Amino acid sequence: MTRLISILLIPFIVFTACVDTGQSVTQPVTGHSSGWHDGGSAEEICHEYMELLGNAQTMHYGKYNEYTDNIEDLQEFLQIPVESIYCPVNGEYLFSGDISEEYYIECPSGAEMSHGHIWNGYTSWPPDPSEHTEICHGQLVSLGVAQSMYYGMYNEYADNIEDLQQFFSIPVDSIHCPVNGEYTFSVDDENYCIACPSNVIPSHGYIQNGVVSWPPDPSNYLEYCQSNMMSLLTACSMYYGIYNRFPEKLCELGISGVMDNWDLECPACCLLYIYETDISGQTFTIHCPLPTDPNHGSIVDGIPSWE
Ligand SMILES: [Zn+2]
Ligand SMILES: [Zn+2]
Ligand SMILES: [Zn+2]
Repeated sequence: MTRLISILLIPFIVFTACVDTGQSVTQPVTGHSSGWHDGGSAEEICHEYMELLGNAQTMHYGKYNEYTDNIEDLQEFLQIPVESIYCPVNGEYLFSGDISEEYYIECPSGAEMSHGHIWNGYTSWPPDPSEHTEICHGQLVSLGVAQSMYYGMYNEYADNIEDLQQFFSIPVDSIHCPVNGEYTFSVDDENYCIACPSNVIPSHGYIQNGVVSWPPDPSNYLEYCQSNMMSLLTACSMYYGIYNRFPEKLCELGISGVMDNWDLECPACCLLYIYETDISGQTFTIHCPLPTDPNHGSIVDGIPSWE
């Protein structure tokens, strides 16, 4: 039992052995009792390192009444060599601090997207991946609104994001897709388009003259595909109501004017639906064209496979 306790205490002793800040032994300066080199994802380690540097800046301020712009000045407040503090994937931090009461530490975009930044003790970590699409869309809409306001004032659209700064209370250079980075701007006399670039993952869409165009979210492909097939089912039934038979081919839905957008595609493979009917046109099937098994289902004789 005694041995177990002494083993548990070792990390704290190592942490605090060379600190001279008057901090109590039970309060590691990072606030993380887990330590910063015992595993965790690269992102977690990166965040712990940045917090470590942020706390060291605070201590530097406490002692010298200013922040430093030289990371090495923080060594006296750190228990591990300052050279060993860098993002495991993106490398050295962007680092600044000055006597005007501000400091800034940022994981650079390198091998991966930045893991975020700390500004004067405020952490800003990139959002959870499940929120990326929503955040990107929200930003595109805000930029679209800013373009409209810009047009209202100057009678033309801005052709770069910096010109829209006046409509934002946050720095515009912090507005970018959390996955794909900087938005692309295109402008001509009466039109603008701001798009999430296709970069790491397929684009989240674009906004053009105030109208948004979002591609289906991959997590909704199944739902989206099945709703496409249901739309085709409805149109085929309407076609039957008029012609007393189902169409020979789906394009007849378009030719007859029953369904202009008859050429729906499965969102996962971007192929047209597989449609079959008998010679007399009294039965039909619609299949999701996805070449993997399972696909998103089918409709046979009006009955969806997923119901
Ligand atoms: Zn990082
Ligand atoms: Zn995006
Ligand atoms: Zn499908």
